[in-house]
Amino acid sequence: MVRVSVVCCLKLLLLLALGGVTMHVPDAGVLAPLRLDGYLSFHDVAAAARDFGNRCSLLPAAVLHPGSVADVAAAVRRVFQLGERSPLTVAARGHGHSLLGQSQTAGGIVVRMESLGGGARMRVHAGGAGADAPAYVDAPGGALWINVLHETLKHGLAPKSWTDYLHLTVGGTLSNAGVSGQAFRQGPQVSNVNQLEIVTGRGDVVTCSPEENSDLFYGALGGLGQFGIITRARIALEPAPKMVRWIRVLYSDFASFTEDQEALISAERTFDYIEGFVIINRTGILNNWRTSFKPQDPVQASHFQSDGKVLYCLEMTKNFDPDEADIMEQEVGVLLSRLRYIQSTLFHTDVTYLEFLDRVHSSELKLRAQGLWEVPHPWLNLLIPRSTIHRFATEVFGNILKDSNNGPILLYPVNRSKWDNRTSVVIPEEEIFYLVGFLSSAPSASGHGSVEHAVSLNDKIVDFCDKAGVGMKQYLAPYTTQQQWKAHFGARWETFERRKHMYDPLAILAPGQRIFPKAS
Ligand code: FAD
Repeated sequence: MVRVSVVCCLKLLLLLALGGVTMHVPDAGVLAPLRLDGYLSFHDVAAAARDFGNRCSLLPAAVLHPGSVADVAAAVRRVFQLGERSPLTVAARGHGHSLLGQSQTAGGIVVRMESLGGGARMRVHAGGAGADAPAYVDAPGGALWINVLHETLKHGLAPKSWTDYLHLTVGGTLSNAGVSGQAFRQGPQVSNVNQLEIVTGRGDVVTCSPEENSDLFYGALGGLGQFGIITRARIALEPAPKMVRWIRVLYSDFASFTEDQEALISAERTFDYIEGFVIINRTGILNNWRTSFKPQDPVQASHFQSDGKVLYCLEMTKNFDPDEADIMEQEVGVLLSRLRYIQSTLFHTDVTYLEFLDRVHSSELKLRAQGLWEVPHPWLNLLIPRSTIHRFATEVFGNILKDSNNGPILLYPVNRSKWDNRTSVVIPEEEIFYLVGFLSSAPSASGHGSVEHAVSLNDKIVDFCDKAGVGMKQYLAPYTTQQQWKAHFGARWETFERRKHMYDPLAILAPGQRIFPKAS
């Protein structure tokens, strides 16, 4: 497994410092005469060379702050017209929450999509009675999901499928998949989009949907930004729940934990959100950094003794209207009575829908205050088929991470039937597969809290998966060679490559994914 190392990024930076940037600037300068509604910046570009992963930094030659979709199209078209002789590439930057330079470009042009993301550009269509006129919002590709939520809540509506953290952009998550605890019943975010507006790698503005230009529509969903820049997405809405009963229970037995999770995601009447996480080092059992969960019985929660075992936390919510709280209580009671958690470990709290969905942000603020947000994040996100999840857990939690890990570990199942296999997203073959996220932070330069330590654990996990034939696929994959991407896409590579030739033939877009190098 080859990875982009810090060293590799430093080498690139050095190359750029020694001449790469100055060599590229004149090329970016050809954009200067463009008549724009927004503006181009050739200075102050350092912020576009950073991301959440904090392990890779590629300096662009210019940042475009578009004032309109036409600006995005004009910039891409200009680069396209320069042809193969120009090394210029264009990277759409959402909120820059990539892990390893995926929204960056060395010496190219970064398009700051958030410039087009304001609430004023959002259009909520409340829909009519019946299935013929479902509600939707037209949201700019650069809109943060939290702002989409604020805007739709004004109409008593909300999107159906989420990510755990809402300070990400619409175009950024739709270019990956967008997965959270609603995905088991609603599908990922890419399954909840009706239409896209896209600027292709030729600079054309194209509207696409399942009915119109469907090849581009499906290609762009989960397409890692390879076929075009998403400037608008039509997102399906539902009536927004008012309140959420947020529940956590603990297990010490992995088999009971996963059997209960699978039963819950397969049942007709069930919770509205189902996730889970693994607790290895027993600190912060209920209040890890991801959430602001405050159980109604905090004393009991803080006194819970795990006796040194690995624990598994099942996390669920039930939406409810305060006027019908008793009905919710009954339904939750029935659902919980079928589960096999450790009985003394039932913790719950009631919060508004907004508080629940924006839960990670409160932890972000706390970590920022301690200087612990802008540290390296060597994350690893895997999709593991149901048939191998036990083998995976035995080795990873019982051996590789026995007493050492540096962040939350998510583990929850989803149903493949809710994913559309016409999109570009790559998932395992089985009907049920698990998302397992190792969300490590590396605040120290050496030792257990270092990037090197976390990366070596990640490598061990990936090596194990490869050798044991676990059938794993990576999500937010950090591959660096086309060979690795071909292996990732498998039989779907041909379609992915064909779409690239069709919509971005010069490989101008999203170079930070390192799939198609630009010929020059
Ligand atoms: P960026 O990182 O800026 O961009 C991501 C990629 O998409 C880049 O290649 C970029 O060039 C391209 N891109 C950006 N905008 C566009 C556009 N408009 N059109 C085309 N291409 C574009 N993911 C989940 O699925 N579920 C989660 O629960 C989840 N939780 C997260 C929590 C945190 C704290 C963080 C940091 C990330 C989380 N993610 C999650 C991952 C998230 O989906 C990715 O980081 C994703 O890249 C979105 O971030 P962004 O909007 O900042 O996009």
